[in-house]
Amino acid sequence: MAPLRAISSDARFRVLFVEDSPEDAELLQMQLEEAGLAADYLRVDDEKGLRHALADFDPHIVLSDLSMPGFSGHEALRIVRGQAPGLPFIFVSGTIGEDVAVAALREGANDYILKHSSARLPAAVERALREARTEAERARVEAELMRSQRLESLSLLAAGLSHDLRNILQPLLIVPDLIAQRSEDPRLHQLAKVVAECGRRGHEMAESMLSFVRGSRRASERFRLADLFHAVQLLLKGSLPRTVELEVELADPELVLDANYTELQQCLLNLCLNAIQAMPAGGRLELSAAEADGGVRVVVADTGNGMDAHTRENLFTPFFTTKPGGTGLGLVSCKRIIESLGGRIGVDSAPGQGTRFELWLPAAVDESGPEVEEAPVTVLGQGERILLVIREGSRMSLIGNALVSQGYRPELATDGAAALRRWAETGSADVVLVDSGIELFPAERLLSTMHESGYEGPAIVIEDEDAPLDASLVPATMPLLRLTQPLGMHRLFEAVAEALRGRG
Ligand code: ADP
Ligand code: MG
Repeated sequence: MAPLRAISSDARFRVLFVEDSPEDAELLQMQLEEAGLAADYLRVDDEKGLRHALADFDPHIVLSDLSMPGFSGHEALRIVRGQAPGLPFIFVSGTIGEDVAVAALREGANDYILKHSSARLPAAVERALREARTEAERARVEAELMRSQRLESLSLLAAGLSHDLRNILQPLLIVPDLIAQRSEDPRLHQLAKVVAECGRRGHEMAESMLSFVRGSRRASERFRLADLFHAVQLLLKGSLPRTVELEVELADPELVLDANYTELQQCLLNLCLNAIQAMPAGGRLELSAAEADGGVRVVVADTGNGMDAHTRENLFTPFFTTKPGGTGLGLVSCKRIIESLGGRIGVDSAPGQGTRFELWLPAAVDESGPEVEEAPVTVLGQGERILLVIREGSRMSLIGNALVSQGYRPELATDGAAALRRWAETGSADVVLVDSGIELFPAERLLSTMHESGYEGPAIVIEDEDAPLDASLVPATMPLLRLTQPLGMHRLFEAVAEALRGRG
């Protein structure tokens, strides 16, 4: 006889009998063994024994008699459902009548069979196990989706917040410097310092929040829609009730997309699961794609309950749900994913008429694929290294932060010796930005030492009234920009951009 497929992968399989007759239990065991099931068996016949067995023996399936002296199969079922809701439970009885059988199924048993005509036993066991697996897999996929939807909305929130915060904090990084430069009042200087420090800390927080969110961003790649559909089909398998018919149609199997595969997969899964949930009485789920309007149109349609006007209007609102256990985040996340790809998502639905979601995605363009979209922050720099040599700590951190906010990577040093050390450590600099009045080394010497050691980039010198720059001591071939105090951040940014433009 063929081995039981659903369980043959288990190294050690455990069957629990709730049965007062050892002979009957043995008979059942023989039938299962004949069907090729190698398993451990345990028999109990009262409540205490059952509870212990559920905890210690940890069975994969329970086969229970209907009536025993001092215990009943119905009680056994109630206890099993209370302690292990998903555990397959089959009634095996000598006396089962049709009405009892129906009642048993209604109480949550997976199946019932007659003891002495139990040729059906192996098949029933296999089916119950398969269904339990499917259910467990469905629950797992759903839990995973919910988790990723929560994460998704958190990172959405963080990205929006940190972007706004950076913009709001921008003046705090610049203005205190200007105030300090325009006033001799030491109290004002002190206050400006406090404000600047708060601005700097806030900026740092926004920055790390943004980099955290960006870190979780996923890159774009090129893949065939056929592969994506195939994966979605596989993942849906466990969630697809028998009453729902899945119809997948791909006009051209060679259609490709540029997108993040995992994200798009999540999006389609969300749409399909919604569709399945909208068809409690069964129906047809369509997943299709075809070329349209210079892109690809993907359709997820169902023949389910449909939506009323209120639901249609609130569909994409975070946390809007009409389901008792819903997150209300599935469609929000779909929309974000589709729109981040430059696509659109639309819906057509009416109560009782089913629902049709249409996604339109731009076609894959050239060989290299599109750039991954960053958060919409306009910055000048692209991570260029700026060796920043500023004498005074708080001014340095202000300018440093302002440069970071523009997308540069400053390396900080408070004097010439430290600057040389930083330069040696990092091994490269695209621009040197230096106060003329730095200590240990004058700016001219720093620049010429760097020049002699191979630095070929430009220099920007912020002139200090007390220590004017002697430009004749700066290497003649080094591009030099000179800035005078009071220094506005915009002029500084311009100078950096100009120096970088002239480079190479
Ligand atoms: P959730 O599924 O957690 O409720 P979603 O954002 O995925 O959150 O969906 C929001 C709401 O949109 C659902 O609660 C439901 O009312 C409605 N909805 C989504 N898809 C469908 C569909 N295919 N048929 C009917 N209603 C739907
Ligand atoms: Mg959903």
